Amino acid sequence: MQVIVVGSSHGGYEAVRELLMDEPDTEIQWYEKGDFISFLSCGMQLYLEGYVKNVNDVSYATPEEMRSKGVSVFVEQEITAVDPDNHTVHVVNHRDGTERDENYDKLILSSGAVPATLPVEGNDLENIYAMRGRDWAIKIKRKTVEPDVNNVVVVGAGYIGIEAAEVFAKAGKKVTLIDVLPRILDTYLDKEFTDILTEEIEKNNITAATSQNIQRFEGKDGKVTKVVTDQATYPADLVVVTAGIKPNTEWLDGTLDLTAGGLIDIDDYLQTSAPDVYAVGDATLVKFAPTDGTPSRIALASNARRQGRFAAKNALGYNKAVPSVSGSSALSLFDYKFASTGIKEGTAGNYGVETMSTLVTDSYRPPFVPDKYGNAQVYFKLTYDPETTRVLGAQIMSKEDVTQNINALSLAIQEKLTLDDLAYADFFFQPDFDRPWSIINVGAQQAVRDVEKR
Ligand SMILES: Cc1cc2nc3c(=O)[nH]c(=O)nc-3n(C[C@H](O)[C@H](O)[C@H](O)COP(=O)(O)OP(=O)(O)OC[C@H]3O[C@@H](n4cnc5c(N)ncnc54)[C@H](O)[C@@H]3O)c2cc1C
Repeated sequence: MQVIVVGSSHGGYEAVRELLMDEPDTEIQWYEKGDFISFLSCGMQLYLEGYVKNVNDVSYATPEEMRSKGVSVFVEQEITAVDPDNHTVHVVNHRDGTERDENYDKLILSSGAVPATLPVEGNDLENIYAMRGRDWAIKIKRKTVEPDVNNVVVVGAGYIGIEAAEVFAKAGKKVTLIDVLPRILDTYLDKEFTDILTEEIEKNNITAATSQNIQRFEGKDGKVTKVVTDQATYPADLVVVTAGIKPNTEWLDGTLDLTAGGLIDIDDYLQTSAPDVYAVGDATLVKFAPTDGTPSRIALASNARRQGRFAAKNALGYNKAVPSVSGSSALSLFDYKFASTGIKEGTAGNYGVETMSTLVTDSYRPPFVPDKYGNAQVYFKLTYDPETTRVLGAQIMSKEDVTQNINALSLAIQEKLTLDDLAYADFFFQPDFDRPWSIINVGAQQAVRDVEKR
């Protein structure tokens, strides 16, 4: 069987890997339009902050390694069209300008997304950057050491903007972090958490400029010098725009069914509207577990990878529905480490669900362990349905790493567990790692009391 995989990031890589694991004799053609395969933007901050020295190491595969496993790897070769009736794709080779058609029995698309640009005056000025992929990683790295760059404005205070802001603050730049939403990380964490994190970034030379709308960029000699919002003007030697992503699917319009937002319509088996064509990753929607499968846009590598595996399995005829996801993510920001999953108090309205939440704080290890030996305060919030007490979401934050608790909560959401299920669930105790009652027990026990009192 001939399988063509388009895109070499998370989704494409996992699809190829699963094909090799399940049916190593599959004829696999793997296409990447860029000049590098399998760059992981998730590892970009580690490169930008110098923990990883070589940008090319931020990758899971090399063409040589994949070729040695029998995969035909095509770099700088773009799939520009799909002909589902004839089971062919059109390939443009950007190295030599040649074009050709290739046949497939099954086609797996993981064409991902590109950074969205802001439709405002001055958006074409020099030194307005994005943050995604290897080319931007290299450009951003240079700016971290450029002495003429003093003022950096990051537009978008989500997950990626936070990473960009931290990188430049650690490089000694003065950073302004602008967002149209009222809080940094607004869709990831509730106010109790973002208040602490806002204080933390301000201590570290980052100014949070929230509830502000970008009006225009101003420049001199073609280079950006100022960012003008509806409330203030900020000096800028560099702007990094991290204000959302746009699916890389324009070339599929008219061939496959796309949503209004340009995402590829898929079913539970990752099958698109065309037979034998599967799609995964940031160009698609995932099923959101807390609301029993509402199609949702949750652009995460973990989702792309899971889908890549299932698409490959289904291309090989295994017929497996991809599981719903809780939308779990984690991040560190200076001294804090945090993670969240599912519905937050702040996002409940987006899903039209009635929720109640309980916040508890506790120490990571027993109180007799001094902070300097690895103790710290833990903030944990559970969000649940007040009628059924089904757990719908959770957030956690500490200066110690307690983020793995969120993986347990993600599973609890998927399995539709209730507060009672969690309140006395069996979790280990050892003073090197936690307290006699796990923070999950503590949160759920308090939530049970809160529900009883309401
Ligand atoms: C800075 C940053 C940090 C992140 N950190 C995390 C993290 O810690 N955890 C996490 O879960 N997620 C993280 N993400 C999100 C994660 O990177 C994405 O969800 C993931 O990359 C999506 O993978 P994908 O395969 O759908 O597509 P993409 O990563 O968008 O890749 C698509 C690939 O396909 C190629 N391509 C597109 N069209 C064609 C075509 N027609 N022909 C040939 N090739 C084509 C593109 O050049 C690209 O290489 C981060 C993202 C960024 C930007």
